[in-house]
Amino acid sequence: MRLEDLLSYPPRDRMPCLLLYGDTGMGKTKVIRKFLLDHEPIFDRGTGVTSMPVVAMQMPAEPVERDVYGELLNAMSASGPSGDATFRLKTTCLTLMRRMGVRMLIIDEIHTMLTGTYRQQRVFLNVIRFLANDLKVPLICAGTDLARQALLTDPQLAERFEAFHLKLWSNTQQLAQLLASLGSILPLREQSQLGTAAVRRKVLEMTDGVTVRIFRLIETVAVEAVRSGKEAITLESFDNGSLVLPLVAMARLSEGRLQRHASPVRPVRLLAIAPRPFEDELLNCWRWRVASHYSSSPRQVESWVCGASGASNPHLFSNDIPTGQSATRLWALACRLKQADVERLSLQNTGRSRASFVSDPAHRGVCPSCLDENVEEGRDHYCRRCWACVEAVVCPRHKIGLEIKCAVCFRTGLFQFRSTPAGVARLFCRHCDVVVSARKFQRRDQTALLQVASLIGEAIGKVGSERERIETASRFFWSLRPEGMPYITTLGLPLPYGQRPPPTAGNAPLTSLPPAWRALTMTAIADLIFEDTCKTARFSASVREAFRQFERGPVPEYHQVSLRTRAASVLNLRAESEYRQLARGIVESEGWKSLPSKTGRASSRAIGKLMLRALNDE
Ligand SMILES: [Zn+2]
Ligand SMILES: [Zn+2]
Repeated sequence: MRLEDLLSYPPRDRMPCLLLYGDTGMGKTKVIRKFLLDHEPIFDRGTGVTSMPVVAMQMPAEPVERDVYGELLNAMSASGPSGDATFRLKTTCLTLMRRMGVRMLIIDEIHTMLTGTYRQQRVFLNVIRFLANDLKVPLICAGTDLARQALLTDPQLAERFEAFHLKLWSNTQQLAQLLASLGSILPLREQSQLGTAAVRRKVLEMTDGVTVRIFRLIETVAVEAVRSGKEAITLESFDNGSLVLPLVAMARLSEGRLQRHASPVRPVRLLAIAPRPFEDELLNCWRWRVASHYSSSPRQVESWVCGASGASNPHLFSNDIPTGQSATRLWALACRLKQADVERLSLQNTGRSRASFVSDPAHRGVCPSCLDENVEEGRDHYCRRCWACVEAVVCPRHKIGLEIKCAVCFRTGLFQFRSTPAGVARLFCRHCDVVVSARKFQRRDQTALLQVASLIGEAIGKVGSERERIETASRFFWSLRPEGMPYITTLGLPLPYGQRPPPTAGNAPLTSLPPAWRALTMTAIADLIFEDTCKTARFSASVREAFRQFERGPVPEYHQVSLRTRAASVLNLRAESEYRQLARGIVESEGWKSLPSKTGRASSRAIGKLMLRALNDE
């Protein structure tokens, strides 16, 4: 059959297109439905990707461009992108089709485009042209003869489409075959006489050769034959006066609209692409990763899954801990996962207290080298669950700092999951649209800090006095001095460059700090509490005494820090010589020599980069 040939057509710039046209009842939809059944979508539980060789979409109620793409997404059982930019809809469709291995697109009832205004029709034909040109898959349109005329008004499309007329049956060998095969499937005990020329003539006379009507007629006659106990169809069967002839309207009704799933409406819609969570993935990361395939947000995916009409969703997840069973159940169903596999991702199940996780996702760093490894393994980027821990400031695998800053534009703010044209999820900087990666430059080795962090992390993970001491110490360091600055900034420690101390609130300052400040705090805590394990005790006896007082209970008055450390803290500047040395380092570095020769933004950005690297590299 012609459709099968097209399905195995090798991709090329100009894919063949087919237009099936004929009167209502000619069985266009039947042909298509049969074809769909032969090429059912298959969901791969391993990869979470549905492969759908044939996609059949309905025409939207109005031939509006964005509705066409909306219907296409629906047909692929994909949640739509956020925002209503048509461009985004378009690219999401393309990416999904590529990812799901779509090899043929069928649009049924294409003549309904004629319900639109002239302008809408032109726009719609443009969409068809885009689909025919850019998808690189054969496009099959089905409709009445009016559809053919409409398509022909566009010369380019007229040239592309091979029209295939579904004709009325005439008294030929084919009709004989059709009747013979019908006869063989009827549940009648006696031999029918469907093979005679007289029956053929009679059938044609009563149905005008319309396929659906022929089927209906034979069915009706067969039922009558069973009822009367005759158990066979003969020429006389058709002369039965009480025979109710199927009307055209009935035929149309039976043909119905094209539907892929005959099953009753599910309470939860299934997502066509649902990447499997990784063993050590963070719950929210996985949800964003799923949503990224639809250029969407988890919230929108949720409402699509619930059927869109559902009332506004309550916030189902906070801080990577689901607010209820229903939330994980919903996601598990929609992604065809076990509920336990989703619950496993929650921070709740790590056995650590809520206060041991960074609360603001924007303050959780990522390891660019770990992400690069994901790329090498051919996987999506993903955020590790352990990156949410307060002590996570260095990657234990790569010994480099976890980053919240873009390595290209230096801006902070959450990295964002997006799907690439190849259909893989990557973390992007939302400001400069660059993929997060460690390839741009060598990161500094942070083994020493890692040791401190694991020391603290170990203590936090255990229940006991050590954990309490750490919490007390972090409150101690972040308690405000009379002049409004946190204590930690007044101790002469090397403060994170270019960052004002963030406002902290509550009992667990570590949970609300960005990584650089957490690193500083943990180093200070380690100095204070694990004195023996640190080579250099930085704090004077008076600081230690202050801490002892703080531990004992609420201290109304603040201990005065020695003058020396206070002076150093006012403006945390480096010594003049240190700056000179840094500058020399920059000018002598490889980076300076390979600076872009022309002046302007590119070179000043490069200089800025060198300076920042030098300053961070103390
Ligand atoms: Zn890493
Ligand atoms: Zn950036």
